[in-house]
Amino acid sequence: MSEDNCLFCKIASGEIPSKKVHEDEEFVAFYDIRPAAPVHLLVIPRQHIATLSEVTKKDAPLLGRMLILVANLAEQLGVAYTGGETGFRTVINTGPGGGQEVYHLHAHILAGPRPWSRM
Ligand code: 5GP
Ligand code: ZN
Repeated sequence: MSEDNCLFCKIASGEIPSKKVHEDEEFVAFYDIRPAAPVHLLVIPRQHIATLSEVTKKDAPLLGRMLILVANLAEQLGVAYTGGETGFRTVINTGPGGGQEVYHLHAHILAGPRPWSRM
C-alpha cells in the first residue's frame, strides 16, 4: 500500500518521525511540522491515495471514517464546536491549483486563537 518516496507513507510507517496524536489500522494523525495555527494536525489514511481527485465510490467508507476521525480528534484536543465561538477548520488541498505540497491525501485540522499565518 505504501508508495516509494512518499513522505507521508514514511510518516505512517514510522520510517520518518512525527509527533503522532492518533494511530489505528487505517489512519494516522500527527502535528504539522510548520503549524499555520495554534492547533494544526494532519490526518492521513495509511493507504497511499495521492489526491482527493483520484477517489471513487469505493473510497466512500474510508473517507467517511476519516471525517469522523477528524471530528473525534477535534473533540479530543478540545477544539470541537460546542457553541459560542468554538470550532475548527478542516482543509484538503488538491493539486497545484489547491496549494497541495505533499501528494498523499491529508486533511488539515486548524484551530485556536487567530490570527493564523496561512490557510
Ligand atoms: P499541503 O500543502 O500538501 O496541503 O500540506 C502539506 C503539509 O505538510 C504542510 O502544512 C507542511 O507543513 C506539512 N509537512 C511537510 N513536511 C512535513 C513533515 O516532514 N512532517 C510533518 N509533520 N509535516 C510536514
Ligand atoms: Zn503516500
